[in-house]
Amino acid sequence: MKMHRVTAIILAIAISSAAAAQWGKICSSQSANKLRGCDSWGCGGYNSPRGARKHKGVDLVCKDGSDVLAPFTGKIDKQAKPYGNGNGIDNGLQLSGSGFCVKIFYIRPVKFSGPIKKGEKIGVLLPMQKVYRGIVSHVHIQNCDLSDPTPYV
Ligand SMILES: [Zn+2]
Repeated sequence: MKMHRVTAIILAIAISSAAAAQWGKICSSQSANKLRGCDSWGCGGYNSPRGARKHKGVDLVCKDGSDVLAPFTGKIDKQAKPYGNGNGIDNGLQLSGSGFCVKIFYIRPVKFSGPIKKGEKIGVLLPMQKVYRGIVSHVHIQNCDLSDPTPYV
């Protein structure tokens, strides 16, 4: 009985860790997806405060000008902009496929439609230091339904 419970727990852990980290590496200049910690501009985690609002995505550390890669196989749905104000980092994409739908911000896309393969270059990180000096430069990624993407990165 006791052994069965232990086995069940181990199985549950194995299954949940297999379900996690389903997205591939998103920033080419990093060895793996790395969540932005906190800096003078805020923190990179899901639901971190943004003034009166909350951060409904995750920020993954990336250097300005780095290639940004498709996290999963699917397609580019459309252009998606974080602000709509035309500033230097106001660009991005909506992607879907493999059971996911996400928006990726602060990249200059290489194209705005068509199929994508996991790991394929989809854009370049825009000059974030020119807009938010001293911030830890990053890709912002959020689920289309604004649920927590942390388990997938
Ligand atoms: Zn963000």
